[in-house]
Amino acid sequence: MYRTHTCGQLRAANIGQKTTLSGWVQRIRNLGGMTFIDLRDRYGITQLVADENTDEKTMQIVEDLGREFVIRCEGTVLERSSKNSKIPTGEIEVKLECIRILNRSEVPPFTVEDETDGGDELRMKYRYLDIRRNPVRNALLLRHKVGQAVRKYLDSIDFVEIETPFLIKSTPEGARDFVVPSRMNPGEFYALPQSPQTFKQLLMVAGMDKYFQIVKCFRDEDLRADRQPEFTQIDCEMSFVEQEDVLKTFEGMIVSVFNDILGVEFKKPFQRMTYNDAMSLYGCDKPDLRFGMEIRNLSQLAKGKGFVVFDNAEYVGGIVVPGAAEYSRKQLDELTKFVQRPQIGAKGLVYVKLGANGEVKSSVDKFFSPDDLSKWATHMGASEGDLLLIMAGDRTHTLEGLGQLRLEMGSRLSLRPSNVFAPLWVVDFPLLEWDEESKRFYAKHHPFTSPVASDIHLFDSDPSAIRANAYDLVINGVEIGGGSIRIFDRDLQHKMFKVLGFSEEEAEAQFGFLLNAFKYGAPPHGGVAFGFDRLCSIMGGSESIRDYIAFPKNNSGRDVMIDSPSPISEEQLNELQIKLGSTK
Ligand code: ASP
Repeated sequence: MYRTHTCGQLRAANIGQKTTLSGWVQRIRNLGGMTFIDLRDRYGITQLVADENTDEKTMQIVEDLGREFVIRCEGTVLERSSKNSKIPTGEIEVKLECIRILNRSEVPPFTVEDETDGGDELRMKYRYLDIRRNPVRNALLLRHKVGQAVRKYLDSIDFVEIETPFLIKSTPEGARDFVVPSRMNPGEFYALPQSPQTFKQLLMVAGMDKYFQIVKCFRDEDLRADRQPEFTQIDCEMSFVEQEDVLKTFEGMIVSVFNDILGVEFKKPFQRMTYNDAMSLYGCDKPDLRFGMEIRNLSQLAKGKGFVVFDNAEYVGGIVVPGAAEYSRKQLDELTKFVQRPQIGAKGLVYVKLGANGEVKSSVDKFFSPDDLSKWATHMGASEGDLLLIMAGDRTHTLEGLGQLRLEMGSRLSLRPSNVFAPLWVVDFPLLEWDEESKRFYAKHHPFTSPVASDIHLFDSDPSAIRANAYDLVINGVEIGGGSIRIFDRDLQHKMFKVLGFSEEEAEAQFGFLLNAFKYGAPPHGGVAFGFDRLCSIMGGSESIRDYIAFPKNNSGRDVMIDSPSPISEEQLNELQIKLGSTK
């Protein structure tokens, strides 16, 4: 038998008992005549001890041990003389009586400790060693729990988990598809699903009523820290629902999952905010509501006083940073540099300091009297001790810039703690987005999203003003999920394809199967998909989704552990009837 207990199991109540443990050697310490070994497995760490009373054979093996060796040992549970209250097994240690090396290990390329010396790439290359570390293992355990809690909740309200195929035809989510050549159908390709969107809609036509799936999705996009080419969604769809029904159902899921796993109690209903409000108050469609500092429009007050920068700007706006009137020249220069970075691209940043006794100092004193500046402060709801940061330019970019500055100030003032959660639904998204380059509309969500009924007449006159029955769930400034009420009427779907620039034939060729299904009694339906990796990372208090994926890819989409993607053999290419061009 390899073990009677795990390395996280023994407590004071076991003192005096015999035990057999197996695991990895985390650390070996020699202190005088005593040798201490930390033995680790998935469940924890148990301290083993050998001393002058340990028999010679055992001692020889102990001396031979190295980090990450796999061993099996037998011994007696003793009370520790110096207890360690930081670990659950800290009250005991195991006096070694017999030890066997089950497998040796080379010296690991990085330390398998909570704080490791290994860089990202190295840890990904040896991900199996990385997963031995507490933070990564705990992230995967959290992910498992979140998945279980989601399934429990959805099952309890009659959702059915149904798998949909991976080898499909393109799904229009706006990213590039990964494609797979078909050997049996030379010259033809499958696409990997960007999401099961069309399938879940077909399941509604099929009468399955409440569907969900925790499912891999594939998008060939340029990667950022919070993106992976393959990622997991909690994908859901329901029939006979309106927007409100969907929001209530999934609010329930989020409340239940956060409560089950973190003991967090959310108030229902979650805050709702229109897309337009989110943009004008927070400069983005996924506001972080852990703190206020909303953007205020100063255009009326600040223009027309002879300061050309403001006078020529479409929009002037700012934020109030509480208690920051003492900011130094250097700190303000840093903030100016922050908004001048290419990501924001602002020309500059104007400040107003509201000092003690009504003393007002600003970078635009030449153009504005103390009285003007006090009016700004009143309009923005600022008071003594606050700092106003003001930007000007075209409306969209200035709001976006202020939005980023707001987040930066939130971080600087520690207003974004990772254990506080601020959920909200953003609603009333525009249905369409105009692309200046290709001079055409794109669906902001996807082409199956229904317009708000009272806006349908705008299809012919002002498509960009049509609002969608679409919604996003945002937590702490991260888009956790999004969905919509779908078009279930063939004619309306055709109208949508038309405004997106699809000819009848193109729509038929790409989505004929769906349009066809709509001929046979499609129920009203809608749904949502949550980014499972992101949900886990938010719950775990991390910025990076990689930590929550067992085997993630790097920023160039490579799996550095298995070294993929990689060339395939001539024989495989021939079988697929594929000829490669020059890869230079
Ligand atoms: N398929 C959509 C997405 O992946 C979600 C939805 O509309 O349900 O974003």
